[in-house]
Amino acid sequence: MTDAIYRVNHTLHRRALQVLRVTDLTPRMRRVTLGGAALEGFVSLGSDDHVKLLFASDAAQQAALDAGELSADASARPTMREYTPRRFDPQALELDIDFVLHGEGPASTWAAQAAPGQTLHIAGPRASLVVTDAFDSYLLIGDETAIPAIARRLEELPAGRRALVLVQVEDAQERQPLASPANVEVIWMLRHEQDLVERVHALPLPAGSLYSWVALEKRLSRAVKGVLLDKGVDEQALKAVAYWRADDTPDED
Ligand SMILES: Cc1cc2nc3c(=O)[nH]c(=O)nc-3n(C[C@H](O)[C@H](O)[C@H](O)COP(=O)(O)OP(=O)(O)OC[C@H]3O[C@@H](n4cnc5c(N)ncnc54)[C@H](O)[C@@H]3O)c2cc1C
Repeated sequence: MTDAIYRVNHTLHRRALQVLRVTDLTPRMRRVTLGGAALEGFVSLGSDDHVKLLFASDAAQQAALDAGELSADASARPTMREYTPRRFDPQALELDIDFVLHGEGPASTWAAQAAPGQTLHIAGPRASLVVTDAFDSYLLIGDETAIPAIARRLEELPAGRRALVLVQVEDAQERQPLASPANVEVIWMLRHEQDLVERVHALPLPAGSLYSWVALEKRLSRAVKGVLLDKGVDEQALKAVAYWRADDTPDED
């Protein structure tokens, strides 16, 4: 890792938060604004930080969660899912989480029914990867689940930097405005119209020092990482992660 990228660990806190507002950003992306005094001291230093959302699968788990207890038996613990703190306002004590409504799944199902007054338990972030603005250019590649982290990165970049952004979405309605002081080119790709890996293969890389970030379905993320390395991208300044896993992607893939 270069000096321009470093990790900061945080004390792990669990918080019970209240749903303040629910806003549909697109037909498949729902913003849930959480609040409460428990957000006092919340820290998120990295644009691709994540918090764990905790979902009880039965009444006993819910009671333990509400009491702040953690079962010694890992199999009895709530289901956890990782989400990006899209926006934190330390004055208003508000935290936005943007959910892709993809269908079945504890997190997506919860978001689809979320309403003001409900409680959501979160933990973390446990750590932040801080990527300074020392690079000339930033290459950001992701799908809908990565839009919150990409949007944060673009908002945090200063003027004078370049960002090339490739986002794969289901359809044209899933495109979102991405604001930034930097010089940004966004390429929106529709999932069923174009092959993402081929597009990355053909992509002219920005000149100068480059930080590359990839967050996609597990198999796709790995394929895009391979293409970027073949294109000569510096592995020390590349982060490629799986944000979710399709059912036909084997564990070992
Ligand atoms: C660091 C990190 C940050 C993330 N940030 C966000 C975020 O801010 N917003 C966000 O929406 N997601 C984010 N994700 C992705 C999210 O954690 C996964 O999509 C997660 O699997 C959703 O959980 P679930 O309970 O809804 O579905 P699961 O129980 O995990 O999966 C149920 C079924 O849905 C499928 N599935 C899961 N996710 C998707 C999807 N996106 N599209 C299509 N099918 C899917 C699975 O293959 C499975 O068949 C992030 C992931 C990571 C690792």
